[in-house]
Amino acid sequence: MTLPDLSVSIDPAKLEKLAEVAVKVGLRLQEGQELVMTAPLAALPLVRLITKHAYKAGAGIVTTFYADEETTLARYAHAPDASFDQAPGWLYDGMANAFEKGAARLAIAGDNPMMLAGQDPAKVARANKANSIAYKPALEHVSNFDINWNICSYPNPSWARLVFPDLPIAEAVEKLAEAIFAASRVNDADPVAAWVAHNAELRKRSSWLNGERFQALHFTGPGTDLTVGLADGHEWHGGASTAKNGITCNPNIPTEEVFTTPHALKVEGHVSSTKPLSHQGTLIDNIQVRFEGGRIIEAKASRGEEVLLKVLDTDEGARRLGEVALVPHSSPISASGILFYNTLFDENASCHIALGQCYSKCFLNGASLTPNEIKAQGGNSSLIHIDWMIGSDKIDIDGISADGMKVPVMRKGEWA
Ligand code: ZN
Ligand code: ZN
Repeated sequence: MTLPDLSVSIDPAKLEKLAEVAVKVGLRLQEGQELVMTAPLAALPLVRLITKHAYKAGAGIVTTFYADEETTLARYAHAPDASFDQAPGWLYDGMANAFEKGAARLAIAGDNPMMLAGQDPAKVARANKANSIAYKPALEHVSNFDINWNICSYPNPSWARLVFPDLPIAEAVEKLAEAIFAASRVNDADPVAAWVAHNAELRKRSSWLNGERFQALHFTGPGTDLTVGLADGHEWHGGASTAKNGITCNPNIPTEEVFTTPHALKVEGHVSSTKPLSHQGTLIDNIQVRFEGGRIIEAKASRGEEVLLKVLDTDEGARRLGEVALVPHSSPISASGILFYNTLFDENASCHIALGQCYSKCFLNGASLTPNEIKAQGGNSSLIHIDWMIGSDKIDIDGISADGMKVPVMRKGEWA
């Protein structure tokens, strides 16, 4: 079988700029630094360009691991049942080892968001859990910001088909590519300068929130009345982040959010999702949950509920929050009106919360806190970190200060 080469639908000059932004802004890859990359096989054209720019920036060795939809599905069709509790730990141990030795991490997103939709949810959950456990030591270097890291994305045809189901596939790929380029700020004559300006804007928002030192945020809107207590000594971040290795990177391309750590024990009320969540190949839609004492005690979804419930049972921390993030409804990604079915994009179009692991970075002096100190201040820990969208143009947010005063933060989805 011969497949048409859909990469011809993608503007090569812009793809090259995206690769340059990923290396120079996303990673700020340093001379001599190794790079460990993961990508869908379809993203090969971008992998090649990133590799080129990484070496031009002086990279030591660039190593890429590919994932392929057909081979993943072959596992679900033919692998022995017991294998769904296994994961390639040797590979993740190797990655953890690379990060300990100073390698940077880049992930290219763009997998088919519906890849596993037809598979047995129990098998999907078992495979995901085994993978999360095996990947944890490597992931901790990323979530603790020991190293510079980045996620960017490529318009994989199977993703484009889902985003633009009514368009011929070549046009869908072209349109998704243009949306990725616009959101990643590569259409600018000088994308690196555009990112410097964008980072300064996000810093202005996070500095204001850090000055206010709210003890909680109160979200109200259709199906939502949620009070998210913030962790003691929480710190807001957005845009560029300085990793513990001293390198200031932009972990997400694109990014529009400012975010911090909620208090794992102080979340009360109910909240409804405002966009579908694509979680490792399954779509979860119309999530409604109720929190008591920081813990989800009721959860349902109109689609993918079985997967959601299994995710919540991953471990004790999976029912608690590890992140709360603010994004204005008018953000460029939201203004595009496109539902991407991809968290990297959809979370940057909407205020969101994340189940599971918190970022130690989002504490004052976070780099010097021990895991026990982070826990004592309200930081959550879990094998998972799953962002889901709760913002819209109908959501109001108030900050609650230490003396109980309410300060408008957002009205109808915009900064107040
Ligand atoms: Zn986020
Ligand atoms: Zn997150």
